[in-house]
Amino acid sequence: MRFDPRLEGFQPYRTIQGNYRIWLNRNESPYDLPKELKEEILEEFRKLSFNRYPHITADPLRQKIADSLDLKLSNVVVGNGTDGLMPYLIKIFDGDHVVISSPTFPMYRFYAELEGLPVVDVPLKEDFSLGDVEAVAANARVVFICSPNNPTGNVFEREKILKVLETGTPVVLDEAYVEFSRYGSNLDLVNDFENLIVLRTFSKAFGLAGVRVGYAVAHESVVDRLLRIMSPFSMNLLSMKIAEKLLENRELVEENIRTIVLERERLFYELEDYAYPSETNFLLVRLDLFDFLLQRGIVVRKLGGRLEGMVRITVGKERENDELLIAIKDYLDRF
Ligand code: PMP
Repeated sequence: MRFDPRLEGFQPYRTIQGNYRIWLNRNESPYDLPKELKEEILEEFRKLSFNRYPHITADPLRQKIADSLDLKLSNVVVGNGTDGLMPYLIKIFDGDHVVISSPTFPMYRFYAELEGLPVVDVPLKEDFSLGDVEAVAANARVVFICSPNNPTGNVFEREKILKVLETGTPVVLDEAYVEFSRYGSNLDLVNDFENLIVLRTFSKAFGLAGVRVGYAVAHESVVDRLLRIMSPFSMNLLSMKIAEKLLENRELVEENIRTIVLERERLFYELEDYAYPSETNFLLVRLDLFDFLLQRGIVVRKLGGRLEGMVRITVGKERENDELLIAIKDYLDRF
């Protein structure tokens, strides 16, 4: 078996399990689909032929995503979550290293190392803005930029992203949380920059983390290269149908986004002395709350490295957030 020492000790799939009451650790949506919509989907499942392969490149879903973004089918590729697209994105370009800006989503480093590539980390500045990424972009396979960034919650300035794009190096801009941001998307830049790939997901704002659908938006030459190396039929029929259904029910998604953003701002207001402003569905909090909250049945994400002593808390339902706030107040009274 191939052993890569760079992977030693890195456990991307280490995740807490157990019988806890409130799960605020994975930036999922707290809202499952309404019962009626689920019933409607199940009814449609009955009519599908499970014995047949789905569309080889999931074109019906690609087309619907493209329509929703005012783009062409040839600009969109779908995958088994955005995570399912990342390894392919690292394979299609030339270059001898991958650039990341920590603290950020750990899977960029994971997939780069899996591909045997060195990772050049340009850490975020003190205020969590991007550092001099352009300086190490030459000859990079890919520069990963996560905006809004997980786990810091902030967006990066468009001007700065433009500067990185102007180096000509492929830039993967991960917009997993963009629907929660007041600053909007940079997706429009795809028309101007052939080296830009934007990642989006149905796992967060669309509430379909369990269904596993993500997509990349890019110049058609990039999409073409991705499709050449991706496994055929990689998007299953059922996930495809559920994602399509949600695109047809946009108002439901918009309503959930509004509620989550309002709840985020309520939590931010209550935790202002300890929380960083957020453009996502989570808050980065400067309190070492992990063990204390776990004892109360509330699971949040414990952070390490530069963010040691902090936690990342996903915005939950109103009732869950109430409980969270009560527990945090209790913590502050004690410590
Ligand atoms: N990008 C970022 C920044 C994320 O935080 C996550 C999930 N936590 C993903 C991508 C993966 O999303 P998906 O469910 O689409 O694989």
